[in-house]
Amino acid sequence: MVTEKDSGYSTHMTTTAILTGMELSKRATSIPPSITLAISAKVKEMKAAGKEIIAFGAGEPDFDTPASITDAAIASLKEGATHYMPSSGTPEAREAIATKLSEENNITCSEAHISINCGAKMSINLALMAIVDSGVGQEVIVPTPAWVSYKPMIELAGGTMVDVPSTVDTGFKCTPEELEAAITPNTKSILINTPSNPCGTMYSPDEIRAIAKMLEQHPHVYIISDEIYERLIYTDIEHLSFGAIPEIADRVITINGLSKAFAMTGWRIGYACATGNNGAVAKAMNTLQSQINTSITSFCYAAIPVALGMKDEVEAMRTVFAKRAALMNGLISTWPNVQCATPTGAFYAFPKMSYYYGKTSPAGAEVTDAVSLSKALLNETSVAVVPGTDFGGCGSEHIRLSFACSEEQITEGVNRIGDWLKQFED
Ligand code: PMP
Repeated sequence: MVTEKDSGYSTHMTTTAILTGMELSKRATSIPPSITLAISAKVKEMKAAGKEIIAFGAGEPDFDTPASITDAAIASLKEGATHYMPSSGTPEAREAIATKLSEENNITCSEAHISINCGAKMSINLALMAIVDSGVGQEVIVPTPAWVSYKPMIELAGGTMVDVPSTVDTGFKCTPEELEAAITPNTKSILINTPSNPCGTMYSPDEIRAIAKMLEQHPHVYIISDEIYERLIYTDIEHLSFGAIPEIADRVITINGLSKAFAMTGWRIGYACATGNNGAVAKAMNTLQSQINTSITSFCYAAIPVALGMKDEVEAMRTVFAKRAALMNGLISTWPNVQCATPTGAFYAFPKMSYYYGKTSPAGAEVTDAVSLSKALLNETSVAVVPGTDFGGCGSEHIRLSFACSEEQITEGVNRIGDWLKQFED
């Protein structure tokens, strides 16, 4: 309920007037703000006070977008691509995405199966809106820990998230049996993200095939496959798309985008591919988009074929990330009483810190969970990490460190955390 104090209105207004005009929807008030924001706010405050912070919070590459991509958008802008566009986007962009998915991911698709959206985040939102009915108890299964936005997105679409927890011992991977146990007649979809934010691990092709085999038995379940980190892999494990497995391909909605692999987070370009029923889900997403935000920004379409055709620059960025992954993993392995799965994909390490819960930090703070540990760490060492709590499942036992920063920062920051941990009393 909105109080007079919260509303910002002066007290001489009547309570009735305030309540009728100012109440927020259940939709808006049911979405919790992320607790990681508290850490970000603290980082800003400390930076403003002149403190040098080493920040491992970033969920985005620290590189600039390659120039040829930027040039294509600038040229398109100068050529006058400044008007409304069709909600399905340009045929050239859709064609480039379909070609990429066919050639690189072995997904048999055409431009009729593609929807282009304002970031992969919007692609997932639209996909959920296209398949989930609200108010009838539909469920979406998500292996956790998982990206913080999935739960709010599922709930905004009117569904319920059913989480299937995993642990560091299995590299945060669920077995087909564990996932199958969560399937009910109300299951609308399963949502899998590999390589994973926040876990930094990925399913092998055999593991994907085993999950697909299980899903063959459940033809009422869609598979939303979030492959946004697909190009950022640091082992010889190959990425296999669920959409490349013919037995289930009709039910797969492949999600990807340009944000992570091409250092284009601010551009807001994501896409989905849904081949079943003549691309019915993709078409529904385009229709929804036509009523929500029309299309992505007009002159960004021209950047899509250029980015997707680019190989060397993407590989150069991946190589840098691979070096940083190895560096961070090696340094974390020197931390006492901490378990960390080797980061094989995305740009995150996700160490388990719960040994330190119930203990007192070197400067005397009570550490009870990932949030209090992250706060004490920031206060006492000026290193910022993301508490794992919001990612669900065993996330509350972990912290997330992004290695989208320099090798110097990784070395200094990770060593600083290690020295700090060594000063905890047993
Ligand atoms: N999926 C995952 C797992 C992510 O981590 C992110 C970004 N943090 C996205 C999707 C969305 O990416 P974008 O909207 O920038 O394309």
